[in-house]
Amino acid sequence: MQDKTLWNSCLLFFEDTLTSQQFNSWIKPLIFEIQGNQITLTAPNSFTLKLVQERFLPEISKQAELFLSCPPHFELRTKNQPLNLLPSKLPVPIPNIVPSTVSQLTLSKHKNQNKLNPLLSFDNFVTGKANQLAHAAAIQVAETPGTTYNPLFIYGGVGLGKTHLIQAIGNHIKHENTQAKICYVHATNYISDVVRAFQTKKFDEFKQFYNSLDLLLIDDIQFIADKTGTQQEFFYTLNSLIDGHKQVVITCDTFPKEISGMTPRLTSRFSWGLTVAVEPPGLEMRVAILLQKAAISNNPISEDVAFFIAKHIRSNIRELEGALKRIDAYSRFHKRTISVELAKEALKDLLASQNKQISIENIQKTVADFYRIKVTDLLSKKRTRLIARPRQIAMCLARELTQLSLPEIGTAFGGRDHTTVMYACKTIESLRNLDSPLNADFNLLNQTLRN
Ligand code: ADP
Ligand code: MG
Repeated sequence: MQDKTLWNSCLLFFEDTLTSQQFNSWIKPLIFEIQGNQITLTAPNSFTLKLVQERFLPEISKQAELFLSCPPHFELRTKNQPLNLLPSKLPVPIPNIVPSTVSQLTLSKHKNQNKLNPLLSFDNFVTGKANQLAHAAAIQVAETPGTTYNPLFIYGGVGLGKTHLIQAIGNHIKHENTQAKICYVHATNYISDVVRAFQTKKFDEFKQFYNSLDLLLIDDIQFIADKTGTQQEFFYTLNSLIDGHKQVVITCDTFPKEISGMTPRLTSRFSWGLTVAVEPPGLEMRVAILLQKAAISNNPISEDVAFFIAKHIRSNIRELEGALKRIDAYSRFHKRTISVELAKEALKDLLASQNKQISIENIQKTVADFYRIKVTDLLSKKRTRLIARPRQIAMCLARELTQLSLPEIGTAFGGRDHTTVMYACKTIESLRNLDSPLNADFNLLNQTLRN
């Protein structure tokens, strides 16, 4: 089943990225066979074979890594050539575990150190529509670990409270049961642990440590994307903990299925428990957060000031905290009490840069002008390449240059689905490597919009 899916996905990609003539002469005639991680591609002649090896194999290999649980090995041949005569040099199956700069600490170093920050608790977590569900799920998991949602997968953009929530779960469980074996680990540290275990041949110790936990909190899991070896280890750890009714909580910057470079078996495992989002807070919630933070720091602000800040700082909670600190410092330095006027002065630079934020309408207009098409074409259902490609470029630029989510971008492009936006971004990313004129266009548009 897997072979069909993988090859179909490759065909779909090339059909969309090459002209139909290129697709029909180079890709369509290829015969694809797979056994385990061994992939054989048979080309009709040596010219096509060479072309496939040089131009298309990297993409096929990339797709294969997404579908297979271990790195693929390629065999390329022509119809008349017996197998093995022309083994592909590409891609070398790299286990993705390389950095040698990691210090030689042994795992035992953090056995007793769960890195929980006691300041991040449920008590000082402000709730509102944007995080209600995530908060409720986190409380549930903290009160009955291992028995309800396992794993709990919390996702959302930066600065929206994921680390705060996951840490709050840890602190709550630690408070209820001082004997619980808890580990909070950022995904990059987990990768270092895997690397270190490889280097020091202490895999047993590594496994024993992670498998013996009562609670594993792993933050920013998107960092293990493209790290095949780490993903494999994490898959085992995840299964072992969940089978043993030990709680696992994971945070990520996107929805599981949207993390590119993650094996499907892992992303599907992520969804077995409960997946909840934290979203950017609305105006009232931003005000509530500001009032609470100011009160905690012993420098309270009035509602007017809170509204002023909240109206201008819309991106995330970390930015709100930053703005508050700036106002606080400014008022101390100038020995003036905090007022809307003072807040305006203190945030002058920040507000100027906020105003320069690029709108999706601006992106659509710039891209349409550049390709001499109409904005209405970009938003239409038309699928000719002359329109579809600029549309994909515009979607990809919107993803890079605005704070909008995939579904929001889809909506802004004539009510398209978020998977269409995701596909557009992936296609453009790959095309930028294959097609240098397109890459130049993209860079030019990107720069024009930023200035
Ligand atoms: P993320 O991990 O999603 O990037 P963090 O959890 O680090 O975000 O949150 C950024 C900052 O905002 C932290 O200082 C955190 O305490 C604070 N914060 C986030 N959400 C809330 C909330 N709902 N109530 C109070 N403070 C919050
Ligand atoms: Mg975080």
